[in-house]
Amino acid sequence: MNIVLLVKQVPDTYSERKLSAADHTLDRESADAVLDEINERAVEEALLIKEAQGGEVTVVCMGPDRATDAIRKALSMGADKAVHLADEALHGTDAPATAKALAKVIGTVEGVDLVIAGNEATDGRSGAVPAMVAEVLGWPQLTFARKVETDGSAVKVERETDAGILTVEAGLPAVVSVTEKINEPRYPSFKGIMAAKKKPVTALSLADAGIDASEVGLANAGSQVVESAPKPPKSGGVKVTDEGEGGVQVAEFLAGEKLL
Ligand SMILES: Cc1cc2nc3c(=O)[nH]c(=O)nc-3n(C[C@H](O)[C@H](O)[C@H](O)COP(=O)(O)OP(=O)(O)OC[C@H]3O[C@@H](n4cnc5c(N)ncnc54)[C@H](O)[C@@H]3O)c2cc1C
Repeated sequence: MNIVLLVKQVPDTYSERKLSAADHTLDRESADAVLDEINERAVEEALLIKEAQGGEVTVVCMGPDRATDAIRKALSMGADKAVHLADEALHGTDAPATAKALAKVIGTVEGVDLVIAGNEATDGRSGAVPAMVAEVLGWPQLTFARKVETDGSAVKVERETDAGILTVEAGLPAVVSVTEKINEPRYPSFKGIMAAKKKPVTALSLADAGIDASEVGLANAGSQVVESAPKPPKSGGVKVTDEGEGGVQVAEFLAGEKLL
């Protein structure tokens, strides 16, 4: 099985995340950057499939130069090689253009059977890129998977949505996105961390990937943030002293907030 893993470097959720005052895009320099946790689960799932069936796992990432740290983490967990699309012109690229760019990069990897992604990134949170990638490639999409099975010619997933759990199946090649219920990701071993330093990472510019600069970037995004303001600080809240009627007061408060 030839698996492509889509991974994104995101600001650590424990850091304070800010939007840039200049163009309202995410200020990536102001926060520590990590491999998105959902992508660690995607890596784990790809490795489990590779361990059962053999093959190769190629990491594909679009992001700034420092996204190599996220790529190395995926490689240290056990992925084999990586392709990194990095170009200044990509700053502010929206979800559809991200998907088109990722599809181009996937096209540089030979004989792909399966693409595995996270269902939703913790920064952009559109939860749309994997489906859009599938659309651009013309491949079936099996999103929100909490269980994945493949025999090398087809893939079957349990797809969990608010409406219930569906079992869906498609022939390969296909695109799968996984939820946080899929597995518990492994920690990279010391040996894995050392080995990752020597694994090949191919750096591509837009031109290398055959992407026209007029299709990406903030100026070509389909939507625009026109204004943004920091979240107001939390207020002190309401203290309820229980003198026999505390429960009633809590119920009244919740009803007033339309939470009951
Ligand atoms: C008005 C507006 C402003 C925005 N501003 C910004 C901004 O300033 N900065 C910003 O980062 N985003 C911004 N976005 C979101 C931007 O569209 C996304 O970052 C990007 O297109 C990916 O979408 P997502 O993060 O929501 O991915 P999702 O669809 O939530 O990601 C799901 C999965 O797709 C894969 N994936 C997604 N992106 C990548 C990638 N780059 N490389 C490899 N795999 C990937 C991963 O497996 C990920 O787990 C903005 C969106 C809108 C609508």
